[in-house]
Amino acid sequence: MKFLDLKKVNDSYRKEIDEAMRRVLDSGWYINGDSVSEFEREFANYVGADHCVGVGNGLDALTLVLTAWKEMHAWDHNTEVIVPANTFIATILAISRAGLKPVLCEPRKDNALIDCDKAFRLINEHTRVIIPVHLYGRTCDMASINVMAFKHGLKVLEDACQAHGAFSDTRRAGNLGDAAAFSFYPGKNLGALGDAGAVTTNNKDLAERVRRLANYGQSQKYVHLVKGVNSRLDELQAAILRAKLPRLDKDNERRRRIAEYYNKHIIHPDIVLPVSGRYIGNVFHIYPVRCQQRDHLQAWLSVNGVQTQIHYPCPPHRQQAYREWASLHLPVTDIWSNTELSLPISPAMSDEEVEYVAQTINKFE
Ligand SMILES: *Cc1c(COP(=O)(O)O)cnc(C)c1O
Repeated sequence: MKFLDLKKVNDSYRKEIDEAMRRVLDSGWYINGDSVSEFEREFANYVGADHCVGVGNGLDALTLVLTAWKEMHAWDHNTEVIVPANTFIATILAISRAGLKPVLCEPRKDNALIDCDKAFRLINEHTRVIIPVHLYGRTCDMASINVMAFKHGLKVLEDACQAHGAFSDTRRAGNLGDAAAFSFYPGKNLGALGDAGAVTTNNKDLAERVRRLANYGQSQKYVHLVKGVNSRLDELQAAILRAKLPRLDKDNERRRRIAEYYNKHIIHPDIVLPVSGRYIGNVFHIYPVRCQQRDHLQAWLSVNGVQTQIHYPCPPHRQQAYREWASLHLPVTDIWSNTELSLPISPAMSDEEVEYVAQTINKFE
């Protein structure tokens, strides 16, 4: 059994995707056309935000927001951005690319989300942004983060790349801070057939600046106000995303059902299941369990035909790319990277497959 059978997921949308692709081909218009503007409108509406700007990928979505803020507020390279140390490295790369300084914050041991008390202690006179990453599909403690941000004049940039459709109380990820970044990489809960991303925000000025930066910094054709980049959402990917968006909630509901089944039926003394608080808003991009003998568990599942993954086997502060952080002491981040195992979860899994995963885990010795 594959960790994620993307072909099966997309086969369930075959008719809609075929139609969407044919429509783009027939239109003769392949960049910044109706599919992009319609998707932006529909996705903003879905999230509950005023603006959505389609961009090339999730990393660019994060980078473009930070770059736009840097330009709006004349921040220098000493400006600090608080980011969870256990995130996918793209969140941190975006800060570096924008010419700002990442400050790593430990996650909570129980749910892998940013530890707000520890984040609070990292704030100093250089801090301007905090990036809550809704890791594994669950929203961060946004009430605490927004209070802290308000008190200290920080911007809140949600990394919602794993949280399409997730919500916190009644509001969706993408509308819980000052701006949010989404990725539509094929394996995400809302996935394109290639790279794609988006920024959502309620700030019109920010949306306009991101749009401009992503399109060579131009305000109109051949008028360049800033040194921009090329990071546009493709017309074809936008059409595919439009075809898939109407069923996102249903797909997420299926993921929740699978998670509920795992929660109830995985009973093994050596395996720690994800905590289930605020369960309803979690979209389970990943179903993360923890196990001291993680590598043995992964091998056991593998010989029994169940593919799993680790998110993430080597945290950013232990990567060659950030060797300047090699001496940082981040014990909770290390616990997650040493013990986490992601079980198969996807809307295309059958009940039998889900039952088989749980049974196989329970037989682990
Ligand atoms: C996938 C992901 C990204 C990057 O998205 P890309 O589209 O691959 O650039 C950033 N942050 C998190 C948490 C992600 O999971």
